[in-house]
Amino acid sequence: MKDIKPKAFVATRNACKLCTPLGASVVFKGVEGCVPLIHGSQGCATYIRRYLISHYKEPVDIASTNFTEQSAIFGGQQNLFVALNNIINQYDPKVIGIATTCLSETIGDDMQVILHKYKNSKSGEDLPELVYVNTPSFKGTHANGFHDAVAALVRQFAPLSEASQTTQKITFLPGYLSTADLRVLKEILVELKLENIFLPDYSNTLDYEYNGKYMRIPEGGTTVDEIKETGSSRATIELGYILSGSDTKAKSAGEYLEEEHSVPRFNLGLPIGINATDEMFETLEKLSGNPMPERYKKQRGRLVDAYVDGHKYVFGKRAVVYGEEDFVVGMVKFLEEIGIETVLCASGGGSGLLKQTIYEKVKPSNDIIVHDNFDYEDIASSCRELKPDIMIGNSKGYYIARELDIPLVRIGFPVHDRIGGQRIKHVSYEGTQELFDKMANALIQYTQDNSPVGYKYM
Ligand code: SF4
Repeated sequence: MKDIKPKAFVATRNACKLCTPLGASVVFKGVEGCVPLIHGSQGCATYIRRYLISHYKEPVDIASTNFTEQSAIFGGQQNLFVALNNIINQYDPKVIGIATTCLSETIGDDMQVILHKYKNSKSGEDLPELVYVNTPSFKGTHANGFHDAVAALVRQFAPLSEASQTTQKITFLPGYLSTADLRVLKEILVELKLENIFLPDYSNTLDYEYNGKYMRIPEGGTTVDEIKETGSSRATIELGYILSGSDTKAKSAGEYLEEEHSVPRFNLGLPIGINATDEMFETLEKLSGNPMPERYKKQRGRLVDAYVDGHKYVFGKRAVVYGEEDFVVGMVKFLEEIGIETVLCASGGGSGLLKQTIYEKVKPSNDIIVHDNFDYEDIASSCRELKPDIMIGNSKGYYIARELDIPLVRIGFPVHDRIGGQRIKHVSYEGTQELFDKMANALIQYTQDNSPVGYKYM
């Protein structure tokens, strides 16, 4: 297999990933009444807020324990206590979701012990639920933080379930998708009459309607009672293959529910493209006993029709795909389906599983160069060599596409140089249709822009 030249330096420049507690914060925003709290410096929380606000275009309240030099030396317990008191007084939350940072992890704050002490100091008081997740960013990506936070919620609350009997509900763990994707998936579950626990659900809290009021904690999100029920649901559907991050022994939420609560787990890729969406519907039909509703059959048919109509514009083009590992896997599977050849898959993720997963789950028709632990400078130099026709990924690849003068189709996270980044649909037939149109049109526009005569009809 052809490979690109190895880099001549070891430092990461412009990482193709974001920080681990950022992913955890998104999950906590998807829990009803929850305020995320970053246990570390003010700068960590500011960075996370800045990224989330620029993508979601909503006010995103994220608290910080505001480490100083003193806390870095003597530990962050005192700051955490003050932060918890402040959040409880100001927000009256149902849940506080605490994510650690590089600094609190490096000094070794034991969150379990500290939170135990805090609860003891408040005995008799009505406290919100306190949940924490270890998210050292030197060991992971925002995707790892996301999946670890989902697992932490399930671990903390599922054992508290009083129900010994299996309920009719299924637990649906969608992974890190857009708010529009979450709405698409929730609608499908409703239409198939599948009672479900959807975790996390930030479809409203990070994309809410204007109603003239500022809500300190926006309405919506998965309730703690629902999370407690995950241990007694009759099945878990967990989307994404690369869920364990750098610690391959760590169990995902779905694996934990299967091993500890005997909840059968159905593990699927992200439903991007016809084949992957068909796989998801087959599982949902099996679990619900209901056939695919007519409107999805029509959406599927229209998508096939669009593939036929647009095939000549996309077939044989060469793409570079980058972003979160599972997003890259899902996107490559879709590109295979529409005849675009992926020449490079890149991610800042460090699971070591990306290449193997692509070859096992996608079975690409051509050899693909796959690199995890890649940064944007690596991607830029690879692109200069590979000369792709199109780039597919988040906004951070813009300067590379601009230098190469090729189209960039923006997907995933973060999309902060466009309006509506949070509403980009990627999943199901509906999302795939939008992606396909975007890709075909980006390539058509490129042809028009570079034609000496221009084209009115294609
Ligand atoms: S990478 Fe570490 S230091 Fe930087 S913002 Fe994230 S947690 Fe804070």
